[in-house]
Amino acid sequence: MIFDPVKNLISSDLAIDLGTANTLIYIRGKGIVLNEPSIVTIHEDRNGVRKIMAVGKKAEEMRGRTPSNIRSIRPLKEGVISDFEITEVMLRHFIKKVSSRLSMMWMRIIISVPSGITQVEKRAVIESAKLAGARKVFLVEETMAAAIGAGLPIAQPTSNLIVDIGGGTTEVALISMSSMVYSKSMRVGGYNMDEAIIQNIKQKYKLLIGERTAELIKMTIGNAFPGSKVKRAKIKGRDLVTGIPKIIVITDDEVREFLNEQIKTILEALKVVLEQTPPELAADIVDTGIVLTGGGALLKNIDKFLMDETKLTITITDDPLTTVVLGSGKILDNLNMLNEVGI
Ligand code: ADP
Ligand code: MG
Repeated sequence: MIFDPVKNLISSDLAIDLGTANTLIYIRGKGIVLNEPSIVTIHEDRNGVRKIMAVGKKAEEMRGRTPSNIRSIRPLKEGVISDFEITEVMLRHFIKKVSSRLSMMWMRIIISVPSGITQVEKRAVIESAKLAGARKVFLVEETMAAAIGAGLPIAQPTSNLIVDIGGGTTEVALISMSSMVYSKSMRVGGYNMDEAIIQNIKQKYKLLIGERTAELIKMTIGNAFPGSKVKRAKIKGRDLVTGIPKIIVITDDEVREFLNEQIKTILEALKVVLEQTPPELAADIVDTGIVLTGGGALLKNIDKFLMDETKLTITITDDPLTTVVLGSGKILDNLNMLNEVGI
């Protein structure tokens, strides 16, 4: 089937990174054609009937700004599908956006999934993609795709240690000879950081801020290791005492303290994997180092922090937000690889 020339001509095979935070789609021969938040805005009437109002970027703009009968849902939580119906709607919407009706007839899709995913969860992902139009669905592990996307020599008998910090999870994987030697998934990621910023600002300043504001604080002055100059940011929110909107100023040092627990948890996951690494591979890591990817790798100085703690070389991939889908895309371009790394 793979080599059927007619089908190859009109079928657009896709690689999809169905992330907790962002969904990316890669089309063979075209590259990345879609990159949108994994979020759906729904209207719920009194009888609980749900109507889709917006998907992706549009839904993200509405987040935190909707009346109570309209909600923004992230159908994936901690890396797995928590709302099957909404995931399918979202996936169908995204797939339709990038492919023609004709090409969907033979569409094959590679979807990357977290390493810790159960059989039931795997089936849910496959089912979702099939309902969304796929004729054939292949699964690969996210961290494997990330390692391939990062250009690591995964097939070699050496250590390829990758840390993927996403929205809801952090995955650490040690790969050698195209196989997972060891992997560890922690339910901590960018969202937990946002939530920590919200809670800490609430406690310290009696100021209530929204999720989007918290994420913006993290992206602008968030950090994991002290820099040379102090940075400040103005924060707008609602005063919990007076109920009136107000502005406060916080520093990057404060934000680092707010994020302390989440960053420590990421370090712990890494340490667990290092402790489980067989001695020869552990020796390799001294030379090959650790590769960081996922949106969380963009947190300022996270590499410096991990380097300081482990004394190992830390490299951040070129574009951490696209590494996984580029890896799956490479598999798509060379489907024989599925025999080695498919699950
Ligand atoms: P997922 O694979 O779960 O969809 P991503 O790899 O797309 O997650 O990463 C999304 C997370 O990365 C979000 O929590 C987002 O806030 C975070 N992120 C993106 N850019 C930055 C940045 N510059 N600094 C810190 N965190 C960031
Ligand atoms: Mg991801």
